[in-house]
Amino acid sequence: MNDIKKEEEKSLNFIEEIVEEDLRQGKYKTILTRFPPEPNGYLHIGHAKSICLNFGLALKYGGKTNLRFDDTNPVTEDVEYVESIKEDVRWLGFQWANEFYASDYFEQIYGFAVKLIQKGLAYVDDSSSEEIASQKGTPTEPGRRNKFAERTVEENLQLFSDMREGKYKDGEKVLRARVDMASPNMQLRDPVIYRIKHAHHHRTGDKWCIYPMYDFAHGQSDSIENITHSICTLEFVTHRPLYDWFIKELEIFPSRQYEFARLNMTFTVMSKRKLLQLVNEKFVSGWDDPRMPTISGLRRRGYTPESIRFFAEKIGVQKRDNLIDVSLLEFCIREHLNKIALRKMVVFEPLKIVITNYTGEEILKSENNPEDADTGHREVPFSNELYIEREDFMENPPKKFFRLAPGQKVRLKSAYIIQCDEMIKDGNGNVTELRCTYLPESKSGGDQSGMKVQGTLHWVSVKHAIHIEVRSYDRLFRVEDPANEEGDFKEYINPDSLQIISSAYAEPGLKNAKFDERYQFLRKGYFCLDKDSSEDKMVFNRTVTLRDTWAKEQKKG
Ligand code: ATP
Ligand code: MG
Repeated sequence: MNDIKKEEEKSLNFIEEIVEEDLRQGKYKTILTRFPPEPNGYLHIGHAKSICLNFGLALKYGGKTNLRFDDTNPVTEDVEYVESIKEDVRWLGFQWANEFYASDYFEQIYGFAVKLIQKGLAYVDDSSSEEIASQKGTPTEPGRRNKFAERTVEENLQLFSDMREGKYKDGEKVLRARVDMASPNMQLRDPVIYRIKHAHHHRTGDKWCIYPMYDFAHGQSDSIENITHSICTLEFVTHRPLYDWFIKELEIFPSRQYEFARLNMTFTVMSKRKLLQLVNEKFVSGWDDPRMPTISGLRRRGYTPESIRFFAEKIGVQKRDNLIDVSLLEFCIREHLNKIALRKMVVFEPLKIVITNYTGEEILKSENNPEDADTGHREVPFSNELYIEREDFMENPPKKFFRLAPGQKVRLKSAYIIQCDEMIKDGNGNVTELRCTYLPESKSGGDQSGMKVQGTLHWVSVKHAIHIEVRSYDRLFRVEDPANEEGDFKEYINPDSLQIISSAYAEPGLKNAKFDERYQFLRKGYFCLDKDSSEDKMVFNRTVTLRDTWAKEQKKG
């Protein structure tokens, strides 16, 4: 894979160490990992970490990775999500060996439950979920079994079959594994493994009205697929004994579970449930809103797969939860865009200048990307009427203002040195136009003027410029960790996270912009074409600024 940084000799992460040891001991011939999303939302950057880890391990050690939809919860799942997940994994650059669905295993998993009942290791319980919870005890006090735990194997087999047949309503009965009501690990206190849910499933339709719980579907699916290393996030550490117990009692393939820290990132939220609220309550335009931490949002924002893989590599794999600074993600995309972005000139807030000693027009050459000479040059039209950025002119400049001011000289990028001779003002004293002269012998590439100027400005020719819309994005939240603030996380949304410049002036070459190209608007940042573009108006998203200005602004504020 063509990545930003070549794989350097670096130390292994703890999961790689485990895999290498397993291979050295000959435990497995090849490794098999899986990425197991629940299709109840779009993938986010946290999932990208898991994808890069699971697929990355298989790539590194010559194994394979399955894409498995963990679709055991019919109510929240949808095919729209299945499609988006596949698109996102592919876009990140990974190819799965098999596309599987936990729902394809429902019959087998049902059989596993029957086997547990036959071994006297599962029973049907008629208690409500509140009763079950109240009988569970506390971490320091053992729980107690109720009378339903006394049911015979025959009775349990009949009741479980009746549950499947639809003889009971939602919540009337559950199937529980008989593990250990005195275990200090609450997960082992006779966990519920099947529940009744009369709901339509996006794949199995109305075939089932009982569904296995996560703990009785995930590990079982791993075993069915012969997954060697089942990697999940830390909240499942306490589930591992149960994962192993089922494997032992069912005598199925001994998959092993390993846990790593989930990715949390500053100034955003990282849970599908919360992201869904942002979408449903219209705080954002959709799952792919460029301010969202979703993969589709980042893609629309202009992030590249390389930058996200680079990020995943940089953050590594930890055993402890932490909060990663979003500026690290921004650093990763800047690194990549600096190498690949085509340079363009765009004026956001124009101030017209007239070059009084220039007549006609000409085509100048400007480099496409100074970081990559192979990209060559583009043509930019120049004439006697230009726009420069209003903020690049000051009537009464402070000492070190190296841009344009009365009597001061600057270079126009890839063009000439000009000098400001005169200001034109309106009735209110606002500058509306500048009169300048240019030095004909100062042309970029063959400057004979001997003149040294400090500032270089971007510009566009008035009559050649095209109008574009520019959307600049800021953090979606005002606080670092909105999910851990008091009250509702949505109270911390940044009201100024989207700024639209509906008519910026761009050099005409941008007319041919493509969705898969990336651009640096000189001195402005990195941009990409947005899908909202139409025949009438092209829309560009700011992916990221040229430098990390946020840290500075925070200090000022
Ligand atoms: P969410 O809480 O966002 O809904 P989830 O864990 O319920 O996430 P799943 O679809 O079950 O989402 O996750 C698929 C895989 O991605 C799991 O292995 C899960 O551990 C992993 N994953 C989810 N969120 C993160 C994260 N923030 N960082 C790393 N891995 C994650
Ligand atoms: Mg989940």
